Amino acid sequence: MSTKHNQKGQVKWFSQERGYGYITNNEKKDLYFGVKDIEGAELPENGDIVFFTEYIGKENTSAATDIKIFERKNPKLKRVHCKGCERKVEPKPWYYGGSDYTTVSIVLLCPFCGYRISKKGGGFNTFAKIILGVFVLALSFVFYKIIWFFRNFIVK
Ligand SMILES: [Zn+2]
Repeated sequence: MSTKHNQKGQVKWFSQERGYGYITNNEKKDLYFGVKDIEGAELPENGDIVFFTEYIGKENTSAATDIKIFERKNPKLKRVHCKGCERKVEPKPWYYGGSDYTTVSIVLLCPFCGYRISKKGGGFNTFAKIILGVFVLALSFVFYKIIWFFRNFIVK
């Protein structure tokens, strides 16, 4: 029995429901791992690059343990510092809307403590930005007309 530390590999397959999966190491060998072999609260997904310790047991059977996620294949959201629990977390988007559905918004919550990390723009905010944009355009058009009016006045 022996161990090989700091091995790098790729998650071939992992099932959250079944609680186990396989990592393909540099030698193209598939290593079994269980959910308890993952370090931290975040679970790996298929295609993620991970660091792990290879555990070689009796009859040359290998398994992976002390698995740390190195790189996400599909990074959904940037990891941010949560002020609620002082951890680096991947915020969870949560959708909510008013009873009239005019103010549907997305808030980002901490998956560990539920702390509200930040608010992404909502429906009303987008609408307000469009109105403001149209207003600024109209205003610049008016200024343009005024400048031309005085220019004609001076030239003549
Ligand atoms: Zn938190």
